[in-house]
Amino acid sequence: MPSGGRLEYNAGLYLSSFGRKPPIRVNLTNFAGKFVVSKSIQAVRGMNDILPVDTARWQAVESIFATLMASYGYGEIRLPIIEKTELFKRSIGEVTDIVEKEMYTFEDRNGDSLTLRPEGTAGCVRACIQHGLLHNQTQRLWYKGAMFRHERPQKGRYRQFHQMGVEVFGLAGPDIDAELIMMTARLWHKLDMADDVHLEINSLGSPAARHAYRQILVDYLQQHRDALDDDSLRRLESNPLRILDSKNPQMQSLIAEAPKLNDYLDEESEQHFRQVCALLDAVGIKYRVNPCLVRGLDYYSKTVFEWVTDRLGAQGTVCAGGRFDGLVEQLGGKATPAMGFALGLERLLSLLEDRLLPDNTVPHAYLIMAGEKAEQAGRILAEQLRDALPALRLLANAGGGSFKSQMKRADKSGAALALILGEDEMNAAQIGIKDLRGKSGQESIAQTQLVAALADKLKL
Ligand code: ATP
Ligand code: MG
Repeated sequence: MPSGGRLEYNAGLYLSSFGRKPPIRVNLTNFAGKFVVSKSIQAVRGMNDILPVDTARWQAVESIFATLMASYGYGEIRLPIIEKTELFKRSIGEVTDIVEKEMYTFEDRNGDSLTLRPEGTAGCVRACIQHGLLHNQTQRLWYKGAMFRHERPQKGRYRQFHQMGVEVFGLAGPDIDAELIMMTARLWHKLDMADDVHLEINSLGSPAARHAYRQILVDYLQQHRDALDDDSLRRLESNPLRILDSKNPQMQSLIAEAPKLNDYLDEESEQHFRQVCALLDAVGIKYRVNPCLVRGLDYYSKTVFEWVTDRLGAQGTVCAGGRFDGLVEQLGGKATPAMGFALGLERLLSLLEDRLLPDNTVPHAYLIMAGEKAEQAGRILAEQLRDALPALRLLANAGGGSFKSQMKRADKSGAALALILGEDEMNAAQIGIKDLRGKSGQESIAQTQLVAALADKLKL
């Protein structure tokens, strides 16, 4: 029983669990004179079911994203959810939060170490190399799907979450960096949430420039060792740039005073970054250059960016990405410039709240079939209607029931119309149409006219 649980006795035994979860139900069954306790099974912590009341919003965002991708000429790639552990260690980096403490890693029955993907880029690069997609050609790809990280579950942070992302290969110029940022900006406009997010960008420079800067940063931080928290002390040796990304308020003044990577950029990266900024200026996309934006994955170089909101508390990054020119080679392919981003769907949807409530999930009509003859004829009629009106959302009654109880179900379904097939209607080859929401009442028409009548009433 979870701590803080409470016992209730109510025709069975309920152990109420904490939080918003429904109570764990325990049945007591008298079996051969003994009590048998059966406990219902809950989902894994941090892994959410998405119920039908919510899936319509998910589908709406996914469909807007897919249309957007097509409008930029990007093709979808679908990748396995499980990859070899080595792939993530080699790409994301051994001393990153993800690889050090967040991966779901297990041995399969052959003894191979496998990992549930914590992000999409590594698998995408692996697939492109494996299928020879990078030989003398460019690739503009997108993906969507579940990712897995063993983090502390809280609002906006889950152990199974969903990303939609984009990866471009074979294009080194600042134009593609700007294109990816522009397409995200366009997405916010399409979702009517442009005012909710702002853009932060930075350049991480070339690996050589970053390496040189790393020493300068470590020297500075060493001088202020006393002010470092435990996390930062640990990172000082392994991944000092990540210290700049610390959310600890006590560290902020130290970070603000630290030498900035921007001041140590190589000439090429600096020029690349200037051009990205100029392109964004030209299309009127506002941004803030944040010299402390370093991103948590080792594979980034040059441009990095995040779309951030201040409306979701600490989990404020909705979309993040950057250039990763070294990754393809690092994973065994030919050196190929690349750039990508991923956005978190749960955070996006929570930011949208109920602004995206599509009305295309409620049935148009509920078919009531009272009596045995009507039951059979009704099933046939329903199929005919679906043939004739593919856009019709028709819920046909199932499980019998009196006319009255079917009518109640029709009302509860939210349908605009009830189609009524009773004995009288059958005998007269007619069907009743009742307006469940408006004031136009009920009428009877010939069954042969139903398709035309529905097409007219529902504008199908
Ligand atoms: P954070 O700093 O919030 O941990 P991150 O840098 O680890 O984010 P990325 O690896 O860049 O995140 O993933 C891209 C996006 O995926 C994030 O901006 C966020 O919207 C989403 N995301 C990442 N981790 C989670 C999670 N555990 N639960 C829900 N969404 C997540
Ligand atoms: Mg993280």
